[in-house]
Amino acid sequence: MEKRRGVIRSDLIETLSSLGCRVLKDEPLSMHCSFKIGGPSDFFIEIPNERALSEFLKIISDDRFYMLGGGTNVLFSDDGYRGIIVCLTGDFKEISVSEDKILCGSGALLSDVLKAAYENSLTGLECVAGIPGTVGGAVYGNAGRRDKWISAAVKSVEVYKNLKKELINKEKAGFGYRKSGFENCIISKVVFSLKKDVKNSRLKKISKNMQKRLETQPLNTPNAGSIFKNPDRFSVGKLIEEAGLRGKCAGKAQISGLHGNFIVNTGGAFAEDVLTLINLIKEKIKEKFGISLETEIKIIK
Ligand SMILES: Cc1cc2nc3c(=O)[nH]c(=O)nc-3n(C[C@H](O)[C@H](O)[C@H](O)COP(=O)(O)OP(=O)(O)OC[C@H]3O[C@@H](n4cnc5c(N)ncnc54)[C@H](O)[C@@H]3O)c2cc1C
Repeated sequence: MEKRRGVIRSDLIETLSSLGCRVLKDEPLSMHCSFKIGGPSDFFIEIPNERALSEFLKIISDDRFYMLGGGTNVLFSDDGYRGIIVCLTGDFKEISVSEDKILCGSGALLSDVLKAAYENSLTGLECVAGIPGTVGGAVYGNAGRRDKWISAAVKSVEVYKNLKKELINKEKAGFGYRKSGFENCIISKVVFSLKKDVKNSRLKKISKNMQKRLETQPLNTPNAGSIFKNPDRFSVGKLIEEAGLRGKCAGKAQISGLHGNFIVNTGGAFAEDVLTLINLIKEKIKEKFGISLETEIKIIK
């Protein structure tokens, strides 16, 4: 079904505001993503609690909307977004710890959840140390390292699907490499099941992961993490390096000299520049190695 684009009636804006939502019009998306790229969204709505979320879903059922977390794995178009970008804030940022479980809203920062685990001597989330963004984004994309994913620590996920709230146990989700099976859902809460860190090894593991990132990732220049998924048995970063593509530029976008699978915005890059580099990499890697690359970042038009 083609959803209505770019219009919300003024009475709906009033209703949403009265429910505590923050409604912004023509909001520059470059301010809401780690790439610092993107034109205006017709509307940008911050939803602070479950009541507002379920009302929002009822009243905008015909409108086009996109669920955003921390914006650290997305590329917005230079033309922006014709519709509504939605973000979960307020209550959705809450984190509570009970014995070996952490219950959190999907808008909580992953770094805050890791901190809560650390402070409560719980282990099991160290593989996400240094990954920016929210719990919702991380669970949606099953974030992690190549071989260790956040799903290992997930117990259950609360989602909104077709206006209904459902609690889904990990076994019933569809977790895999950078996928969760929650493609048509809004993730509202997550329960992590962790272990008591009897060996007191969590700080060592976190430090090791963070150190590796500092050495291998261009953390001082805006980017959106790995651009492509790693194909079986290959590292995209290495393939890009072997193809001689590191350092190549399009406008103000550049394939990082530090990590081939990162594209950085050196200042004022456009989405079109990034897309030019993405296409160049895809073409060259196919030509040289016969491998078709799949993007990991979400390209939002
Ligand atoms: C420097 C850097 C390093 C990174 N390193 C890693 C890494 O090591 N491993 C890794 O996996 N990723 C990495 N990333 C990518 C990114 O940080 C992760 O994918 C992160 O989990 C995305 O979370 P987010 O909240 O920013 O999601 P967003 O970028 O906002 O969204 C990503 C996707 O999740 C969906 N989504 C977000 N919230 C919800 C929700 N509540 N319900 C339903 N869908 C939702 C969005 O619709 C979108 O499709 C890195 C990024 C950067 C910038």
